[in-house]
Amino acid sequence: MRFPLHITTDSIKHQLHNGLIKGKKRYPFVLMLEPLYTCNLACIGCAIERHTGKLKDRLPVETCLQAVEDSGAPIVSICGGEPTVYPELPELIDGIIERKRHIYLCTNALLMDRNVYGKISPDKRLTINVHLDGMRETHDYVCAKEGVFDKAVEMIEEGLRLGYHVITNTTVYKETKIDELEELCEFLTGIGVDGMLVSPGYQYETVDSNIFMTQQDIQQKFKRVLEISKRYRLTSTPMFLEFAAGLRDYKCSPWSTVTFTPLGWKGPCYLIGKKHTWSWDEFWNETDWEYWESRQDRLCQNCAMHSGFEASVVKELPSNPGDMVRLAAWNLLG
Ligand code: SF4
Repeated sequence: MRFPLHITTDSIKHQLHNGLIKGKKRYPFVLMLEPLYTCNLACIGCAIERHTGKLKDRLPVETCLQAVEDSGAPIVSICGGEPTVYPELPELIDGIIERKRHIYLCTNALLMDRNVYGKISPDKRLTINVHLDGMRETHDYVCAKEGVFDKAVEMIEEGLRLGYHVITNTTVYKETKIDELEELCEFLTGIGVDGMLVSPGYQYETVDSNIFMTQQDIQQKFKRVLEISKRYRLTSTPMFLEFAAGLRDYKCSPWSTVTFTPLGWKGPCYLIGKKHTWSWDEFWNETDWEYWESRQDRLCQNCAMHSGFEASVVKELPSNPGDMVRLAAWNLLG
């Protein structure tokens, strides 16, 4: 199966409980938990605030766990900053697992041997998600540091050897060569990763860089990614990839992926920080979801982020039974 059975069944239960039983129109699927804005790298596509924070300004573990409770999301993606720099990471992961949530630990992998392996045990609820934006030369360029690719690959291999579930996460930028992306998929398949997430880069308001794509660029590149997805174990759904390739359209579902940061709840979405608040009720009840779903804001113009649209794929499934069958086959046979 492309996604472990327990993640799939818990996600379906969550949808049935919230959508059918409670009749909710909107509810979070994923919590993006950013316990700190400190990082050991300063990648060129990263929002400035996400790697310049001080360690002393990190969130306490109890505050993170309260956010897990408040959001109710079955999946918690721990990112940042670099989460392996967070000193209380073992305690945080234990607390999330105790609450029966699934964790994606999003990391550049440089500190895995020092801060994760041997300190946090493999668990069926824990997936390690390693950032890799290309082969050696490209990835080291994106991370603005030599040797990052080699260390990340060494840590992926070590994680797999120790029994962790390890996937990778690749962002496609304007300069990304799709032949190289295919080479990366071939290489990662060869070392046995459990899945590869590929998504289009998004121009953060705070990143002054010319590496991001327009909607046309995204569609052109993702037509090729769609082809590649038929040969490799990509974890982006085929419907999402068709959307990114411009072959179908969806409204955004920014409420599906809520973001908790060292400044509080960030709204309306992972990418846009119009407002931060410490109150879950204020964030959830006062964000104009209908406006952001419509994608009419100029900041939404070139966005095809999986955090906004994968949930739209799932939400539309009941009205497209053919897609439901396709998705089930894609997951079972992947
Ligand atoms: S379209 Fe993108 S930028 Fe706009 S609300 Fe959705 S996820 Fe955020």
